[in-house]
Amino acid sequence: MNEERDAGGAPVDWSPWVLQPLAAGVLCDYDGTLAPIVEDRDRAVPLPGAPTLLAQLARKLSVVGVVSGRPLEFLLANLGPLEGVSFFGLYGLERLYGRGRDQGVREVSQAALAWKDVMELVAAEAEVAAPAGVEVEHKGLTFVLHSRRRPELASWALGWAREAALEKGLTVQPGRLSVEVLPPVASGKGTVVEELSTPLRALCYLGDDRGDLPAFRALRRLRCAGKATLAVGVASPEQPPELAGAVDIVVSGPDGVLRLLRELASRLGCG
Ligand SMILES: [Mg+2]
Repeated sequence: MNEERDAGGAPVDWSPWVLQPLAAGVLCDYDGTLAPIVEDRDRAVPLPGAPTLLAQLARKLSVVGVVSGRPLEFLLANLGPLEGVSFFGLYGLERLYGRGRDQGVREVSQAALAWKDVMELVAAEAEVAAPAGVEVEHKGLTFVLHSRRRPELASWALGWAREAALEKGLTVQPGRLSVEVLPPVASGKGTVVEELSTPLRALCYLGDDRGDLPAFRALRRLRCAGKATLAVGVASPEQPPELAGAVDIVVSGPDGVLRLLRELASRLGCG
């Protein structure tokens, strides 16, 4: 069921998270979910209170994490490090686990590292090809073509990225007035959700963009397998049309995300 609501609307059934918090988790996207979208992406900071809230949830739940296309360093600089909270940068290619056997260990996908030279070469080609107003963001193992300053060039950026990816055997991930080019490595938000879900009985994911759709699809598979899931879409003026049909509820922007997570924190008795 999909309904336009914020956390002040119909209550979410958090009982699977509250009854067995050590078999439950919450994962969320960063941009547009914890941090409002801003024109200068380097200045996208989380809403006040978001880091504290994640840390509070992490003291009760088995898994609390942030899963983003941003580099791991960016996430840590803006949110953390937060005790108990795991960070998944570049769609899971870079990781820092907040808990468990690998707690505190930074991991980089070796499979993706093998493509680093190719990625740098294609990113350099993108710099040459990009018309004024399309910006190339180098993220190490991936790069992004941004057309936020000239939205009319979004289709050029998508077309160029698709063609380059086809030629070099890479993959593309369209986003909000942006398109990311990635190495052809099994990763992505859906993969992260599935990996982390193994020991869990309940998992919630919150996200606002196309890159979150694989995570929502993964939740659907988990629900079919008998787990409790909650897919939360975050509404925005640039919301992709597929989002509403992929989620259980929609909240209104990062404010709505915080209200919803505070509701869970309160149910869990977080202090
Ligand atoms: Mg986002």
